[in-house]
Amino acid sequence: MRLKNVPGSRETIAASPFAVLYPEQQRGIWRALFDNDHPIHIEIGMGKGKFLTEMAEARPENNYIGIEKFSSVLVRAVQKQEQLQLPNLRLIRMDAEALEEVFAPGEVGRIYLNFSDPWPKERHAKRRLTSPAFLERYRRIMAPGGTLEFKTDNRNLFAFSLESVEESGWELLASTTDLHHSELGRENILTEYEERFSQLGNPICKLIARPRAE
Ligand code: SAM
Repeated sequence: MRLKNVPGSRETIAASPFAVLYPEQQRGIWRALFDNDHPIHIEIGMGKGKFLTEMAEARPENNYIGIEKFSSVLVRAVQKQEQLQLPNLRLIRMDAEALEEVFAPGEVGRIYLNFSDPWPKERHAKRRLTSPAFLERYRRIMAPGGTLEFKTDNRNLFAFSLESVEESGWELLASTTDLHHSELGRENILTEYEERFSQLGNPICKLIARPRAE
């Protein structure tokens, strides 16, 4: 993602009741913040928030938390949510490496990764959000039966992710290399990147996986 500095983004985020400024304080008690016991679904690397905002609107029976590393990107999701005021959506600026400081074991029902940065150089493989090191972090915070859903148009990253799922002993529940022409694509909500890349004619890949029960 090309990053433009957005003046005032930190201040806008800090002033929003929908941005959680000290997410570590919610560890283990996220449901209290939403004031219900609905499942918690998170998107890591949410960008400007199109996907998660539409999910939260369409599925009021779940709570959604969007995670994004950069204020200049997250601020767009915060501005959208300021207008919509969806009760089941909160936003966090943080690096996914700190996930376990923010979510307790078993607290997350589903993790979405959409068009994650590919980090094509081998020496950066550990930074890929579907690397075995990240899958291990996800496993530790997931509720029993919780799933990971990953979409990308990058075939190399998709192949790497399928290997990573297998290597980590996860169960692959479904996968496709042409989501928009597959049964898996029914009721699919497009992300910003998905919209852009599918308009260019790139097929979209998707996998759904879960850690095996211990
Ligand atoms: N998910 C959006 C979509 O599909 O349109 C945005 C995709 S964009 C290519 C990837 C986003 O992930 C960027 O906004 C980037 O800042 C964010 N990101 C990358 N690594 C991250 C990390 N370790 N923690 C949190 N966000 C991250």
